[in-house]
Amino acid sequence: NGGPRGGGRPRRVGIMGGTFDPIHHGHLVAASEVAHFFHLDEVVFVPTGNPWQKDPAHVAPAEDRYLMTVIATAENPQFGVSRAEVDREGPTYTIDTLREMRQVYGPDVDLFFITGADALGAILSWRNVDEFFDLAHFVGCTRPGHRLADPGLPEGKVSLVEVPALSISSTECRERVRKGEPIWYLVPDGIVRYINKTGLYLDDAMAGRAHR
Ligand code: ATP
Ligand code: MG
Repeated sequence: NGGPRGGGRPRRVGIMGGTFDPIHHGHLVAASEVAHFFHLDEVVFVPTGNPWQKDPAHVAPAEDRYLMTVIATAENPQFGVSRAEVDREGPTYTIDTLREMRQVYGPDVDLFFITGADALGAILSWRNVDEFFDLAHFVGCTRPGHRLADPGLPEGKVSLVEVPALSISSTECRERVRKGEPIWYLVPDGIVRYINKTGLYLDDAMAGRAHR
């Protein structure tokens, strides 16, 4: 399991990290596009536990974000969800997740870390960036409102791809819920229903969050 299959090519696994607060169609289209054009066998969505870049008081509980990610991906046999970060104690670091994925899948699998243009721009500020590139190939996707420029990343370690532009952010979805505006068709139907059922994003503590 994890090694080269009958065809002789290594298994190709995408990793889509995110806060997913909530997951929306921008995430799903990016994952689907990269899966198709990079011939991935599967994409694993990894909701963050306690993202160190974001104020924990202003992020929905990890379990809700995990469940929404499961709901949004359940119908796609190529998509899965990992609890790696949700179950890990302390702040979330992507490098820890990549190390864990590398251990779970073994050395013979090709890992592709999928990220949007804004997150790609932040990569140079990440810890252990060289080890990061040793563990996975990096795929940066276009995102409306963010420039997808190559910020001098190592040769052959990063691919920049243009995905169909969906100008959707979780921040905007949360604000819409708070204001009583619809999020139908910005997120999967099941996510609208889950948010309505749980009352996520309605409380005052969630109000006034800056765009991230
Ligand atoms: P927030 O507004 O809370 O930051 P977000 O919409 O940016 O939420 P994240 O969970 O922060 O969603 O993003 C997870 C990953 O998905 C990041 O790599 C991000 O760049 C990418 N991404 C998010 N939205 C889009 C989109 N509309 N198109 C392409 N990539 C996206
Ligand atoms: Mg974001």
